[in-house]
Amino acid sequence: QPELSGDFAELMQWADRARRMKVRANAETPQDAETARGFGAEGIGLCRTEHMFFDADRIVAVREMILAEDRPGREAALAKLLPMQRADFEALFKVMRGLPVTIRLLDPPLHEFLPHSDAEIDEVAKASGMDAAKLKTRAQKLKEFNPMLGHRGCRLGISYPEIYEMQVRAILEAAVNVAKATGERATPEIMIPLVAMREELAVLKKRIETVAEAVFAEAGTRLDYLVGTMIELPRAALAADAIAEEAAFFSFGTNDLTQTTFGLSRDDSASFLPEYLRQNILARDPFVTLDREGVGALIEIAAEKGRKARPDIKLGICGEHGGDPDSIAFVEGVGLDYVSCSPYRTPIARLAAAQASLSKSAR
Ligand code: PEP
Ligand code: MG
Repeated sequence: QPELSGDFAELMQWADRARRMKVRANAETPQDAETARGFGAEGIGLCRTEHMFFDADRIVAVREMILAEDRPGREAALAKLLPMQRADFEALFKVMRGLPVTIRLLDPPLHEFLPHSDAEIDEVAKASGMDAAKLKTRAQKLKEFNPMLGHRGCRLGISYPEIYEMQVRAILEAAVNVAKATGERATPEIMIPLVAMREELAVLKKRIETVAEAVFAEAGTRLDYLVGTMIELPRAALAADAIAEEAAFFSFGTNDLTQTTFGLSRDDSASFLPEYLRQNILARDPFVTLDREGVGALIEIAAEKGRKARPDIKLGICGEHGGDPDSIAFVEGVGLDYVSCSPYRTPIARLAAAQASLSKSAR
């Protein structure tokens, strides 16, 4: 496990005394979480659970779930995934030893999960007992022209309630198990992706609470957990006061927020972005350094509206910008509570957050 030592470790300790914002890391494996801890991360700001479903032994069950004809079919597939997810979260909570862990419920573009060949359809047919021809038709129906603006994030959670119910059960059972085994009480932060409207969050939060009550009754114990949301669509930023009524925290997803604010694809910008930079239409790549005029303005609006509706709301950022010094300086100005970045950027974020605090207090 990498760790900071010597003069560098001392410098980081000075930085920690100067900084106001907490620094967390984006991690979904125990290895990444260990790396982040070694670099001084004070929690996990984003666990992207979709990354947990691509292993060969899981993707078939995920496809089975998505392509099932009815709820019992979906539940049979999810019963296979529940123990794996529970073990995933137990491992994360153990590494983080009571530090905050924000777990984002499933947010895939659906096409990444659909079968791509007849062989993959046959695998699902074999595992589920469903008819291959029927599965193929169903997969065709679920195909989208624009998956990044399609059936992803909370929309998936709303149309397939069982997925989020399974994940919430896995998170809370894991937290209860780890608390019983180690005495370390994690406070899971359950995060809903791609929310645009308060109503989406209200529907999902009610379902989360129902699952939580069932888990606590079965376990004979309870623990604290938070439900919050990503702010990664302009509408969510503008409606942040209404959304804050349902959210204990906001985490700014500046990758999607940049994409949707500019109307600029995260995945296809390489074709013309270099020319924009060369002609100085854009001074910097907005997917690396936060665009203050547009995306930054939305963050300011959302932070202000969110705090007005819920003064104790916790605010963070977990897009790539959370590890970029210039962007960190900007969000210090907005008064966010934490930044979350990739594990290896943790030391940079600690330094940048300290620098931002110092230059703010010097002004
Ligand atoms: C984001 O959109 O900024 C984000 C953190 O989520 P993802 O990159 O997984 O879409
Ligand atoms: Mg996103």
